[in-house]
Amino acid sequence: MERIIVQKYGGTSVGSIDRIKHVAKQIVSVKNKGNKVVVVVSAMAKTTNSLIAKAKAINPDPSDRELDMLLSTGEQISISLLAMAIQSLDHKVVSLTGHQCGIVTDTNHKKARITEINTDRISKELLEDKIVIVAGFQGVSKDNDITTLGRGGSDTTAVAIAAALKADQCEIYTDVDGIYTTDPRIVKNARLLDKISYDEMLELASLGAKVLHSRSVELARKFKIPLVVKSSFKQSKGTEVVEVNAVEKVSVRGVSLDKNIAKLSILEVPDQPGIAFKLFSTLSKNNIQVDMIIQNINRDSVNDISFTVKQEDLQEAIKISQNIVDEIGAKEVIYDEGVSKLSVVGTGIAGSAEVASTFFESLYDLSVNIQMISTSEIKISCIIDEQHGEKSLVYLHDQFSLGIDALENKAV
Ligand code: ADP
Ligand code: ASP
Ligand code: MG
Repeated sequence: MERIIVQKYGGTSVGSIDRIKHVAKQIVSVKNKGNKVVVVVSAMAKTTNSLIAKAKAINPDPSDRELDMLLSTGEQISISLLAMAIQSLDHKVVSLTGHQCGIVTDTNHKKARITEINTDRISKELLEDKIVIVAGFQGVSKDNDITTLGRGGSDTTAVAIAAALKADQCEIYTDVDGIYTTDPRIVKNARLLDKISYDEMLELASLGAKVLHSRSVELARKFKIPLVVKSSFKQSKGTEVVEVNAVEKVSVRGVSLDKNIAKLSILEVPDQPGIAFKLFSTLSKNNIQVDMIIQNINRDSVNDISFTVKQEDLQEAIKISQNIVDEIGAKEVIYDEGVSKLSVVGTGIAGSAEVASTFFESLYDLSVNIQMISTSEIKISCIIDEQHGEKSLVYLHDQFSLGIDALENKAV
């Protein structure tokens, strides 16, 4: 029986005409092995950033609807060019926008969620023996407007399509060999992982390892989609994302650094029931995801409440917090964009006092102050000053013996 394979190529993988031609050949060879192939593509490298810069040059605060309209064009360029490259290899192919291939989302522009996929069009094209090229990162809302899924969202398009088509395999092609113990571009001796569990990958992705969009991992876990991440630049086995990781008995799987966060504090909040509820429910209604929260007890029945949000949500979070300050008579809102979140991730971390103490000791060794701490079943995170982020990541990776050299030493 023909297998259905969904592949996704990221921006660098289709970043030039030569790269597009290379990827076209790879796709055709998979098709020629007798598979049905659906390919999701991102915008060519740097395109999305340059579209955002153009928008901001025209209007510093454009509406989210118009931004989505603009950003979706990046993927439209790459799907059509890739389809043309495949045509020149004499293969039947069709490129489809998110709308054309039935990707329906909610109405939250810039971070929409896919609510359903009507696969009729894709299935019809596959039956006609065509390779189907789909624009990643975009869909159409119930109101018939173009939406985008958040930065890095093409991974999510790929996994959602794989789930809707009940694909046999979902392959994410990128510019590194797979998933590493940490970002291999920052930590030189990061180690490539053979396998990682959905849960661990979900934590790494939500904590800033942008190799996979975190929503894509959530969907892969929910629909049990076999996921593999590999390089589009060279032959490699890559990393499989699987249900449980029984491969290695290491509790710490990786470390990550998220620079894309900001910290807000509301000072001198009256110490009364209901105030945290008011603040966080309003933020949530406005689709602002809040991460860490700390409440400090002050003197005279007032508290300071601090929390972190993604940088792109900062301006809106400030507005909302300011309204609440005025309403409840707190002192003021202050914020800091110069913070990063440093995390360790791995099954079995919960309850391991040793992991926590190694983490905190490492930051002490570097004289780095911890501003906030949070823990979950499989992660510990600290907010620190952004300027210490990368050196702390490298040091922590070393202290947890995650590098290639550490593994070699263990084997001796
Ligand atoms: P694409 O354009 O293919 O979607 P991204 O730039 O979104 O690629 O993601 C790949 C990048 O993720 C890598 O170049 C690497 O710098 C970064 N990265 C961060 N953490 C990790 C990790 N743990 N393993 C692999 N890559 C990582
Ligand atoms: N082009 C989008 C971005 O740069 C989506 C993606 O690459 O996954 O974020
Ligand atoms: Mg990406």
